[in-house]
Amino acid sequence: MKYYSTKNRQQAFSFKEAVMQGLAADGGLFMPEYFPSQTKLVSNISQYSFAELSLEIIKPFIGMEISFNDLHRIINEAISFPALISRLAKNLFVLELHHGPTLAFKDFGARFMAKTMGFFTASENKSLNILVATSGDTGSAVANGFYDTTGINVYILYPSGKVSFIQEQQLTTLDKNITAIEIDGTFDDCQRLVKQAFLDKELNIKMNLSSANSINISRLLPQSFYYFEAYKQLKNMQEEFVFSVPSGNLGNLTAGIFAKRMGLPVKNFIAATNSNDVFTQYLLNGDFLPRKSTQTYSNAMDVGDPSNLVRIDKLYNYELNEMREEIYSFSFNDADTISSMKEVYEKFNYIIDPHGAVGYLAYKSFTGLDNSEKQTGIILETAHPAKFQDVVEKALNIKIDVPQRLAECLTKNKSTIKLSAEYKSLKEFLWSRNY
Ligand SMILES: *Cc1c(COP(=O)(O)O)cnc(C)c1O
Repeated sequence: MKYYSTKNRQQAFSFKEAVMQGLAADGGLFMPEYFPSQTKLVSNISQYSFAELSLEIIKPFIGMEISFNDLHRIINEAISFPALISRLAKNLFVLELHHGPTLAFKDFGARFMAKTMGFFTASENKSLNILVATSGDTGSAVANGFYDTTGINVYILYPSGKVSFIQEQQLTTLDKNITAIEIDGTFDDCQRLVKQAFLDKELNIKMNLSSANSINISRLLPQSFYYFEAYKQLKNMQEEFVFSVPSGNLGNLTAGIFAKRMGLPVKNFIAATNSNDVFTQYLLNGDFLPRKSTQTYSNAMDVGDPSNLVRIDKLYNYELNEMREEIYSFSFNDADTISSMKEVYEKFNYIIDPHGAVGYLAYKSFTGLDNSEKQTGIILETAHPAKFQDVVEKALNIKIDVPQRLAECLTKNKSTIKLSAEYKSLKEFLWSRNY
């Protein structure tokens, strides 16, 4: 498999180049040249465990670049926890993606990426520096995936005061090769700083830099695995599948479209957004108007300039009408999110997190457009409700249990480097660290 940059179809890159560069030198995002057909896997899917089907799906994307045995090991280490379907109603399900170490779906992509980069770095003698911007969940998933990996240093940039207490504890209490950088600014500032660092030739000569945001193709590919896994658990429903995807940078949605292109029978995707509805507006009126993000309860979706939109545009050849046939999008504010959490709890006795709650409302809006009984709705529950304990407990007026793996980091001491949102300060800091 070869990869190309969204800004230039002519030049081909290997998987290793795409993974280690993260962002292409021309500023484009890497895309696989084609999508291998997995229709055979789909017809025999019950015979595969989650890790086995993941291995089948990933194999053609890697080709000979990682031996089968190494790839097998990487998959087993990365995809080491389940993606579980839970039933809300007759035709409505939740796909729980939060059974990993940091309790959000980003563990799938981040762990695969970390193991893959660790594999490629092991054969070289210079260390690798990962820069990652996070609006909350990315950072902890990435930090956790890379924790204690020899030869890799991780710098996590997050917007000061704009992530939850729990998220901050998850980000800032790891030691060893992980450094948390607290930026006096927004998530978009963090993302801009990271992009600027990658385009900074001088810095790149001094440091071996790579990215770990959802722009990295090795984070995206494994996110298609659980769409297949959901289908496996529901396939005797024999209906049309609709996935509702709580969306921010649109990585999760892009991975779903990848799965469909590989032959997974999906009728529609719904991009559920909060008040940061740039993508919803884009589908509606064709204008892409990035703007500053605003803070909401579903803060991992607080994105004003979704980075994976360029990939989605490519996937549909910039044909907005084709995109509209497959993807619907609806947006909801914080008040809606609270009522949604309440409704899901009262109607189905299920505790949903603020991101999943937006996904639930979007699915409801969608079925309002096409209320066919033949449709199976699957809401991606992207984070564990305990990660948003305050909001969830207040909305539902209950106490929720915090899983052990989360409780552990809550009592540790926070350790961060504080920087302004000016690129100069980030550069100076990284420069001083790179001895
Ligand atoms: C990152 C994240 C999202 C948004 O996913 P994208 O791939 O950026 O669209 C949604 N929910 C949670 C809990 C997240 O961590």
